[in-house]
Amino acid sequence: MRFLLSAALAFSFAATASAIRTPGIQQILGPKLSSGASIALSSSSAPRWSQYEAPRAQIVVNVGSEKDVAETVKYCNENRLGFLAQTSGHGWANTWTLDKGDVIINLRALNTVNVDKTKKTVTVGGGAIIKEIVEEVYKNQLHVVSGGCNCVGTGFMLGGGLGRLMGEYGLAIDNLLSLNLVTADGNTITASASSGDLWWALRGAGHNFGIVTSYVVRAHPWINNGTHWSGNIVFSGDQVEAVTKAIDKLAFQKAIAVHYYFAVDPSSQQPVIIVNPFYAGKTDDARKAFKPILDLKFIADTTGPIAWNDLNTSGDFFCEKGSRKPAYSAGLKKLDPKTFRNIWDAYVQFIKKNGVDKVGKSAVLVECYSYITARAIDRASTAYPHRDVNFQALILGWYDDKALDREAEKLGKYVREQWLSTSGFQRDHAYINFARGDEPLAAIYGESWRVRKLAMLKKKWDPKGRFSQYFPIPAGY
Ligand SMILES: Cc1cc2nc3c(=O)[nH]c(=O)nc-3n(C[C@H](O)[C@H](O)[C@H](O)COP(=O)(O)OP(=O)(O)OC[C@H]3O[C@@H](n4cnc5c(N)ncnc54)[C@H](O)[C@@H]3O)c2cc1C
Repeated sequence: MRFLLSAALAFSFAATASAIRTPGIQQILGPKLSSGASIALSSSSAPRWSQYEAPRAQIVVNVGSEKDVAETVKYCNENRLGFLAQTSGHGWANTWTLDKGDVIINLRALNTVNVDKTKKTVTVGGGAIIKEIVEEVYKNQLHVVSGGCNCVGTGFMLGGGLGRLMGEYGLAIDNLLSLNLVTADGNTITASASSGDLWWALRGAGHNFGIVTSYVVRAHPWINNGTHWSGNIVFSGDQVEAVTKAIDKLAFQKAIAVHYYFAVDPSSQQPVIIVNPFYAGKTDDARKAFKPILDLKFIADTTGPIAWNDLNTSGDFFCEKGSRKPAYSAGLKKLDPKTFRNIWDAYVQFIKKNGVDKVGKSAVLVECYSYITARAIDRASTAYPHRDVNFQALILGWYDDKALDREAEKLGKYVREQWLSTSGFQRDHAYINFARGDEPLAAIYGESWRVRKLAMLKKKWDPKGRFSQYFPIPAGY
C-alpha cells in the first residue's frame, strides 16, 4: 500500500477534515490493502468528468484487488464513513451526499480484459473503460455492446448500457452473464441468472446494490469483418425540422443507430446540426438505409467505412474531464419537429449570448437506436424500465465559470420540458445513466411494481443504504 504524500501536502485542508473523521485510515486500512493499492487525501487522483455538483469526498482509496474493495467497505462501515465506487467518474447525477471526510473507492486499476474466443465471453475488470474493452475484443475478431465514448466505465453497464450495436445484440445488460460483487457488508459474491431477484436488480439499477469487481459478458462474431459505416453529416439550422422528421421516420432496422447533435462546429464556430449515423455492415446497404437523411440538403458528409475499434474516436472530445457540465434528459417515443425547432432556437441563443469561447462545447444529443432485439426480451425480466423508449435525448451545458450555472440550468429545464411535453408517453422516462436527480423515482425506475420490488431488495441487500449515492432507492417504499 502506498500513501500519496505529495497529494496529502497539497491538500492539507482535506487532510485535516478527513483526519477528524478517520483517525488512522492509512494506519488501520493501509496494512490490509494489497501492494498495488494507495490511499490519497485528495480527490485529484480520481478526477470527475464534470465538476458541477460533483461528489465532495476527498479520501480516495485506489484499490488494487477485489479484496481491497471488500476491506475498504468493511473499514468504512466500522468507521461510519460514506463511500462511493468510482470507475471513470462520468456519473453526472446531483444525488451525491458524501462529505469531505468520506471515501471514493477508485476501481480504475482493476482494468483487465480477458477474451475467451472459444466460449465467446469477455471477463472485464470492474475498473475497465470502454476503450480497453473494445480494443481487446476487436483483436479477437469479436463485438460486444459498448457505449459511444471510449472513456466510460462500469456505471454504463449497471444502468442498462446503450450503444450502437444494440439493434443486433440488445442492451449491454442483455449480454451480461455474471458479475463479482462486494456487498454492503463487505462480502464477496458472484451474481448470475441463478441469483434470483438480485440478478434482476443488478441489470438496470445495479449502482444501488454493490461494487462490481469484475463481470462477464457475451461477445459476438464480427459483422462484415469488423468494418462498419459511420461519419458525420452536417446541416445548417434551417434544416432542423427536416432532419428531425427524417430521423423520427427512419426504419430502425437492427444494423442502424444515429447520434443526432446540436453542437458548435469548431472550424466555423457556428452552431450546426450533426447527424452521426452508424450501420453495422456494408457501405452500399448503409447508404440505402440512410437515404432519407442523405437526400436532405447537407453542408458536409464524412461518412464512409470505419473499423469498429475506431468508431468511438468521433466522440473523444466528449471524454474531456473537468469543467461544469449540467445535464438534463428525457426518454422519447417520437421526435417532434416543432419541439426541436424550439430547442435549436434556445440552444443558439444560449451560445450567442454567452459566447462560443465560454459555452461553445455545450451540446444537445439524441441517441437513437434500434430496439428490435432489446424488445424481444421480456420487459419485466430486468430492472431496466425504458425498453419502450425510442430516443434518449439530453442537453449538456459545458463551461468553466460557475456564474453560468443559472443560465445553463434555465436552458436545461426549458429543453427537458419541451421534450417531456411532446414525448409521446403518458409518463416521464429518465434513463438512470442520463438522469439528473430531480426526477421522480418512477421516471428513473419505472412502474410502481418495479420501485416496490427494488425497495424490497434494497431492504434485503443494503438495509442501511450504504449504496445510496446514485439515484438512491429507499429501503421502505
Ligand atoms: C462522455 C460520456 C459518454 C457516455 N456515453 C454513453 C453511452 O453511449 N451509452 C450509455 O448508456 N451511457 C453513456 N453515458 C452515461 C454513462 O453510462 C454514465 O454516466 C455512467 O454512470 C458512467 O459510469 P462510469 O463508471 O464511467 O462513472 P462513475 O461516475 O465512476 O460511476 C457512475 C455510477 O456508477 C457506479 N459505479 C461505477 N463503477 C462501479 C462499479 N465497478 N461497481 C459498482 N458501481 C459502480 C458509481 O458508484 C456511480 O454511482 C455517457 C456518459 C458520458 C459522460
